[in-house]
Amino acid sequence: MLDLLIRNGTVVTPQGAGPWTIGVSGERIAYVGIDDPSLQAGRTIDAAGKLAVPGGIEPHAHLDIFDLTNPDSGRSTLGPEEDTRGMAFGGTTTHLDFCFVEPPMEITKAIEERCARWRGSSYVDYSFHVGLMGALPLQTFDQLGDVIKQGFPSFKVFTTDVLPPHPKRISVRLDMGRIQLAMEKVARNDGIMVVHAEDDELVQFNYQRFAAEGRTEGHNLHLVHTKLSEELAFERIIRLARSTGAAVYFVHTSAREGVEAVVEARGHGRPIYAETLHQYALFTADDYKQPRGFCHHTYPSLKYPEDHQALWHGLVNDGVSTMATDEFPTTLEHKLLGTRIDNVTGGNLGAEARMGITYTEGVVRRGMSLPRFAEVTATNAARILGLYPRKGVIAPGSDADIVLIDPSIKKILRREDFHVSDYSPWEGWSIEGWPTTTILRGKVIVEDGQLFGKLGDGKLVERKINPVVLRRPAS
Ligand SMILES: [Zn+2]
Repeated sequence: MLDLLIRNGTVVTPQGAGPWTIGVSGERIAYVGIDDPSLQAGRTIDAAGKLAVPGGIEPHAHLDIFDLTNPDSGRSTLGPEEDTRGMAFGGTTTHLDFCFVEPPMEITKAIEERCARWRGSSYVDYSFHVGLMGALPLQTFDQLGDVIKQGFPSFKVFTTDVLPPHPKRISVRLDMGRIQLAMEKVARNDGIMVVHAEDDELVQFNYQRFAAEGRTEGHNLHLVHTKLSEELAFERIIRLARSTGAAVYFVHTSAREGVEAVVEARGHGRPIYAETLHQYALFTADDYKQPRGFCHHTYPSLKYPEDHQALWHGLVNDGVSTMATDEFPTTLEHKLLGTRIDNVTGGNLGAEARMGITYTEGVVRRGMSLPRFAEVTATNAARILGLYPRKGVIAPGSDADIVLIDPSIKKILRREDFHVSDYSPWEGWSIEGWPTTTILRGKVIVEDGQLFGKLGDGKLVERKINPVVLRRPAS
């Protein structure tokens, strides 16, 4: 006998979407196929009228991290206790946060600390990208092979310090030489580079220039963190990747130029992947001037309608692999603390809205297929970052991470629809379709607006990337 059956829904699999039944045994999916009346289970969910999709994977979150945008405030973001509650409600069953390593830290020590912080404190499963920052000693890079073997195969680097120098701001930028060294190690050991790519010289020059010209209002952010800066940095990293053989996952692609650079590299068979963010695909730099407009800001910056077109074309068809959020959960007061180009709080409070927004804006409003929806919200992140096939797919043997979406829910989102902080940047957005049930490894953790999961349900997931993903564009 099975533990759980999901009947009468439309099940979204890589083969297409169809009227199938899902059977769950313990934490795993045991059956996907045409309904067999002889199947029995401890519990049956009637999913009539609903879609069953793979549990969402948020590839880009910053929980409980010091806010470098406002270093004088001494504040950090909300932790996994608060934020993963929203993920559970919003249909995200796994998230990837960051474990930043700065000199003179040991990577394994940094990972241990971050894991200890999450243990017993998350409603959903998790892992961490390893962030390599600043003038790390060269010996640090010798640890990369072992770290990959331990189940942490993705390494985040910044090509820019993002913000101008400040006494309380550490330098996050890795020089090109160290990025090259990391790429060599990663390519040799089946890891992947996760890159925040902007041209540091252009960004820092723009900060100086705008300060000299007295144009420091935050609504100029897109003129400091420009399309050209993204283009130059993406191309430079792609060249470096070509010469070292490394695979690259570009976080928060914001501009048409970024998408074009990635599409061109993929056309040459290079394993290059682009992530974008729901706020980048739906808000423009004009929105900075709205009341609460900085709620939508994430570094680099919001861009223009032509960039939306390129991002959505990539998401719906090919070229942009994942829809993430750059989750950075704070209170509204914290999010609106800074108003200048050098201190607007970065990140988004959007992981809870990610699945519903992508369904509404992708599937309902832009003709995205249901299998493609599953790819950009779960499967591709799982494949590129080493969670597949345990996560990111509804298939026998995979973890029973399943989300039911009710396409008949049509409403304007309100503050009461969210469960993390005292605001959501998505209040006022009209949606068609929203997650109603979230199942994590066979356990129903949210159903019809009620939380049944508990802190500690979420577990660390070991990752290993299929080498196919690292040799050619495969997601
Ligand atoms: Zn980020």
